[in-house]
Amino acid sequence: MKAHDGMYIDGAWRPAAGRDTIAVVNPADEQVIAAVPAGGAEDVDAAVRAARAALPAWAATAPAERAARIAALRDVLVARRDEIAGTVTAELGAPLPFSQAVHAGVPILVAGSYAELAASYAFEEKVGNSTVYAEPVGVVGAITPWNYPLHQIVAKVAPALAAGCTIVLKPAEDTPLTAQLFAEAVHEAGVPAGVFNLVTGLGPVAGQALAEHEGVDLVSFTGSTAVGRRIGATAGAAVKRVALELGGKSANVILPSADLARAVGVGVANVMGNSGQTCSAWTRMLVHTSQYDEAVALAAEAAAKYGDRIGPLVNAKQHARVRGYIEKGVAQGARLVAGGPEAPREQGYFVSPTVFADVTPEMTIAQEEIFGPVVSLIRYEDEDDALRIANGTVYGLAGAVWAGDEAEAVAFARRMDTGQVDINGGRFNPLAPFGGYKQSGVGRELGSHGLAEYLQTKSLQF
Ligand code: NAP
Ligand code: MG
Repeated sequence: MKAHDGMYIDGAWRPAAGRDTIAVVNPADEQVIAAVPAGGAEDVDAAVRAARAALPAWAATAPAERAARIAALRDVLVARRDEIAGTVTAELGAPLPFSQAVHAGVPILVAGSYAELAASYAFEEKVGNSTVYAEPVGVVGAITPWNYPLHQIVAKVAPALAAGCTIVLKPAEDTPLTAQLFAEAVHEAGVPAGVFNLVTGLGPVAGQALAEHEGVDLVSFTGSTAVGRRIGATAGAAVKRVALELGGKSANVILPSADLARAVGVGVANVMGNSGQTCSAWTRMLVHTSQYDEAVALAAEAAAKYGDRIGPLVNAKQHARVRGYIEKGVAQGARLVAGGPEAPREQGYFVSPTVFADVTPEMTIAQEEIFGPVVSLIRYEDEDDALRIANGTVYGLAGAVWAGDEAEAVAFARRMDTGQVDINGGRFNPLAPFGGYKQSGVGRELGSHGLAEYLQTKSLQF
């Protein structure tokens, strides 16, 4: 795997200030495939200075010119789709068809949506005797996780570019090669030097330096609630804008009138995709007591069928963590009906698709984000009970409702404390705002709501 041994700063690959490196491991076979520089405060400072210097000119470009650069970026992502998918598969472990369709495919959609939005967005409006301008927030510090490595980068960088902001990105240490590939794509797309900068490195070193840097106007973070809380506190102390996309523990609510087999089948697939490493995954399946045993049988069958098609978890730490949660579920009295804590292969960080029955809402596996291929079936007595269970965690990122009648599902979804709900399966919409209620985060990504995060208003009165 080809890796750069420098940082992408001010339009070129430059040597890192220090000599430390991060080894990139393929989680499917545990082999080291590359090394990238582990940046520190000096590298972050150089990148922020470059972004600051590039800001006035980029902020002043016509939206149509920014739209053209984003469209060119989308075209490069299309042209290099196979390379992107191969890189994500190598460093994250996702099966190649999933990397092709989702890890490479979704960022193309999102970049395309921002090419259009940059051209069509009303950056100026009349309100009574005022003209209100939407101006870029400034220099963005973007910190991203490994689970959808390119999507999470594009969901920040594309709207930031559309808004006229400049960016310093610190990607996850587990997936830096995808980030380097993205920097190459930005370069090829003709984005001016300094507008986008990449510093690879460790979270508590490079990530923290970026979040704390006084030259950063907005910190946009996706990752764990623990780190997000710290970043929010740091940004608050500096009176800096902050956007946080954090964890989830979403409910898949199957109402009695639903097509049970379809709801269970899609629900299990939703969790197993990306080996359960999806913040919005519907990891709690809520089933009416009259249909519970049938749902358990269907879920066990769906998980067993998934079998070998599942990829590994990203690293040894997540592998141990997820298996620990499965052991805890057993210890607290949940009943395993598929999978389990045993590693199914000698090599690689694999966990079998796992289904728990007899899960009660207060169990650890029903409350905490496992981030692995584990789905918990919880029984409810009536709709109010289902709602209480669905809303009964600290999270509120996503969810699903299934019913025979769309209006019935919508009525239930409107009572859920969560940012996104898929009705009878739904379909991905790159323009729909994505983000959390409660401890799932602050702010929204995607579409015009995502663009608004990177803008601030100025009113002129006449
Ligand atoms: P994480 O530590 O929160 O990582 C997210 C990003 O923040 C990474 O780039 C990370 O760098 C960086 N980071 C870590 N500590 C930092 C600090 N003190 N200051 C600034 N940046 C920092 O998440 P993780 O360790 O990869 O995963 C742990 C758990 O987080 C998962 O099990 C899952 O529950 C949750 N998670 C949620 C999402 C989501 O989309 N909501 C995504 C990933 C993980 P490093 O890569 O060097 O750590
Ligand atoms: Mg970490």
